[in-house]
Amino acid sequence: MYKLTRRRFASLIGASATGVAASSLAAPAVLSAAKSRLVVIGGGPAGATTARYVAKAAKDVAVTIIEPKHHFTTCFFSNLYLGGFRTLESITHGYSTLAAEYGINVVHDVAVDVDGAGKKVKLGRGGDLPYDRLVVTPGIDMRYDTIEGYSPEASTVMPHAWQAGTQTAVLKQQLEAMEDGGTFVMCPPPNPFRCPPGPYERVCMVAHYLKTNKPKSKIIVLDAKDKFSKQALFQEAWAQHYDGMIEWLPKEVTGGVKAVNTDSMEIMTDGETFKASVANVIPAQKAGVIAERAGLTADNGWCPIDPSSMRSKMNEDTFVVGDASVASAMPKSAFSANSQAKVAANAILADLTGSKKFPAKYRNTCWSLVATSDGVKVGADYAGGEEKIDVTSKFISKTGEAADLRAQTAEEANGWYEGITKDIFG
Ligand SMILES: Cc1cc2nc3c(=O)[nH]c(=O)nc-3n(C[C@H](O)[C@H](O)[C@H](O)COP(=O)(O)OP(=O)(O)OC[C@H]3O[C@@H](n4cnc5c(N)ncnc54)[C@H](O)[C@@H]3O)c2cc1C
Repeated sequence: MYKLTRRRFASLIGASATGVAASSLAAPAVLSAAKSRLVVIGGGPAGATTARYVAKAAKDVAVTIIEPKHHFTTCFFSNLYLGGFRTLESITHGYSTLAAEYGINVVHDVAVDVDGAGKKVKLGRGGDLPYDRLVVTPGIDMRYDTIEGYSPEASTVMPHAWQAGTQTAVLKQQLEAMEDGGTFVMCPPPNPFRCPPGPYERVCMVAHYLKTNKPKSKIIVLDAKDKFSKQALFQEAWAQHYDGMIEWLPKEVTGGVKAVNTDSMEIMTDGETFKASVANVIPAQKAGVIAERAGLTADNGWCPIDPSSMRSKMNEDTFVVGDASVASAMPKSAFSANSQAKVAANAILADLTGSKKFPAKYRNTCWSLVATSDGVKVGADYAGGEEKIDVTSKFISKTGEAADLRAQTAEEANGWYEGITKDIFG
């Protein structure tokens, strides 16, 4: 009934997760029938945080994470790796603390189907995992079909690097191999997408790398939008630190990217063709495919949730946390995912143990490094309203800030990275 073809397996785990050695895939542990069972699909910021907070609070809940990767490379700070400020190792984390210190059963496999009525998850290597509550946190998948000529295969030549790991390393290698005087073309995606400031921070980090190593090079940004997050701050930084290097072309100028040709390294907009030395093509996005398979997505490809708990609007035993969810005004960020996970964990504990459920409060801050010791940030606090998650207060860095404040903001981001990765992976 659940026959899995190689193609289907690959499409479920995505390109970044294909390196799992068959011999290292552990069979899921048999869970005690006496314990209530929480199964979490995905071991990223959303899934790992939810699992850790439930496991930490209730020893009588058996918590399992299903995640194909043995090591998780964070997308956050992956731009700093491209810029030369971080190594790949420093943004890569394992699951051993979650298993050893929190008793979480980490199953390195892929969830290929969910039987919502029978409350069980089908695993790629065979077998079912039964649950009392399910958390679905697969992050994003690419809508490859929105750009003619783009595909998982094409992304090995023109990487999106929007799921960190192999893709990010490929982009970095391409930058290193590029000639001085080459053209880096980036195609940021349309809304909504993972990490709204991410493409523009990446422009800064690539510009920093090129200015330092290949100063005759150029950057062209073919945007699918006419405006973007922290725009004034990024454009200030481009002028101040990388003057003359970056050309940003909004959708109203080009009509947006329509097609790519990986043989000729060309990118086609409505009326013009751009030749790239290195092309970073980031297509439109949707919730990770298992969310759709589980019947949790709306027509727009994302998962609607109850704003007071992150409970799926499609299935009351299931929660959707992180990028895959529709969290209204909250951006798709690791900070948001980590914050939503704590709200979901509280609601799950209330369901499974009868503990008190608190009003839902959320928080997000997105820092961006724009040059050495120059950081900017945007953030907000939120509360779960009747229909959606509402903003209760917000802030943003200002243009023209003093250098010491910017240096402090950049340093604050380093502290945040250390703190949040500990909160996610233990
Ligand atoms: C360049 C860039 C820079 C960023 N910078 C920041 C930043 O500075 N600050 C910030 O807060 N956020 C940042 N983000 C965003 C942040 O990385 C994401 O919002 C965050 O990773 C979302 O977490 P998630 O757990 O929802 O999804 P993910 O991190 O994608 O984790 C999902 C996990 O689910 C697994 N999975 C998928 N399908 C299945 C399946 N069928 N079975 C089992 N497992 C499955 C995947 O292998 C993956 O490990 C950035 C993103 C990018 C691309």
